[in-house]
Amino acid sequence: MTCVTRFAPSPNGPLHLGHAFSAIVAHDLARERGGRFLVRIEDIDGARSRREFAEGALADLAWLGLSHDGEAIRQSDRIASHAAALERLRARGLVYPCRCTRAEIAAAARESGPDGPVYPGTCRNVRFVPDGPVAWRLDMARAMAEAGPLTWDDEIAGRQVASPDLFGDVVLARKDAPGSYHLAVTLDDAADGVTLVTRGLDLFAASHVHRLLQALLGLPVPTWHHHALIVEVDGGKLAKRRGSPALADRRLAGEDGRALADRLRAGLLPEGLAFSPLANAAHKA
Ligand code: GLU
Repeated sequence: MTCVTRFAPSPNGPLHLGHAFSAIVAHDLARERGGRFLVRIEDIDGARSRREFAEGALADLAWLGLSHDGEAIRQSDRIASHAAALERLRARGLVYPCRCTRAEIAAAARESGPDGPVYPGTCRNVRFVPDGPVAWRLDMARAMAEAGPLTWDDEIAGRQVASPDLFGDVVLARKDAPGSYHLAVTLDDAADGVTLVTRGLDLFAASHVHRLLQALLGLPVPTWHHHALIVEVDGGKLAKRRGSPALADRRLAGEDGRALADRLRAGLLPEGLAFSPLANAAHKA
């Protein structure tokens, strides 16, 4: 089977070194295996996505010497398929409308999950008919019962028992977008024929949810490769405000992007930055 990887940035800000490393991992794994490397611009967050960041990301990839196969894919072209999948889940009673605000959830939540407070289930038993845009949540207990026990494989961390319940009733559609990150990325990876999902360890736990959605929607199951993150040596998340310049700033200043990519491949990081330990973010069941 041909190996198909992808780099899937959200164009809501400029790319930084962490994105460069992620793109290099996806690109190099595809090239080493004689496969295909795709780029998908995840631009479904209408309020935060900007065309200039999408264009900047593509220019950054070219500057790093990373060529992708085919045209860059736009997630916003897929909105109808996200809505159709949500409808299928709705017809099976696996999702329910939710009108709780963030503040209400934060006040009522008793647990915290990988994405923040776990939804306390307020709207789960109310089942109202929405008269305008609402969020739709997965009924996690019901979905897991329907799918049965699941596992997934990470090339680095090994076999995982899927534990999507860590997240509680995740949002699958937001008020303003028919597909949340979890639903859209799962559907699009399947639509794009991605066989190896490469991304940073910060999204390791999300793969539990994606594995469940694959089972519910009858989608092919890829392998995952969650790579180390580039972090500040004091353990903080890499952020521009903490002195990590955007790739675009380096590019526009005339820096050699291919040489930077080679240094990242060799594990050479600028002063003050380090790779996160691989075991840290793995939520092994
Ligand atoms: N679009 C997501 C992000 O930029 C990444 C999606 C993924 O790799 O699963 O954080």
